[in-house]
Amino acid sequence: MPNPRIGILALQGDVEKHRAALERAGATVREVRAPADLDGLDGIVLPGGESTTMSRLLRTGGLFEPLRAFLAAKPVLATCAGLILLAKNVDRLPYETFGLLDITAHRNAWGRQVWSFQEEIAWPHSVNGGRSPFKAIFIRAPRILRVGEGVEVLAGCRGEPVAVRQGNLVALAFHPELSGDDRIQRWWLAGIGR
Ligand code: GLN
Repeated sequence: MPNPRIGILALQGDVEKHRAALERAGATVREVRAPADLDGLDGIVLPGGESTTMSRLLRTGGLFEPLRAFLAAKPVLATCAGLILLAKNVDRLPYETFGLLDITAHRNAWGRQVWSFQEEIAWPHSVNGGRSPFKAIFIRAPRILRVGEGVEVLAGCRGEPVAVRQGNLVALAFHPELSGDDRIQRWWLAGIGR
């Protein structure tokens, strides 16, 4: 698809850097705040931020159910707090998640001294031949404690999964939009409409 129309959930969190990366990669971007913003989109990004705040705003804005229907059907790239929102099981979140991704996520669980860190990970998919390690930036990231049978682990860090895929859902524990390397967004966009 030459210019996919991609939404970014824009209730809270790291929207601008995702927008810039997606636009550099050739997408037409729309910020999603209300159900009507989902109309005609080819895919959506759930950004990092604070999953508690996003959960609250999703409900007060009436977006939770329409967005759940969209996430069940269309390509999704979820990062950090976005991964938490997709997960079937999450600890320490006083809200129901979308529950679509068969993983158990543990919030803020990389230990206080390393709540935020960066580490090179092996990203398995090449884009334009670029297959060097990816600098993954983790900011109070969730740990993925369990992956269900239908979930493929795309990449790991320190012996644990940090990038997973289940059908139309791709979820990353880190922030790909902060590393100045758009390979993951380009790979994800290239898979849309295939
Ligand atoms: N700690 C955040 C949460 O629990 C996630 C952090 C992030 O998105 N960078 O929602």
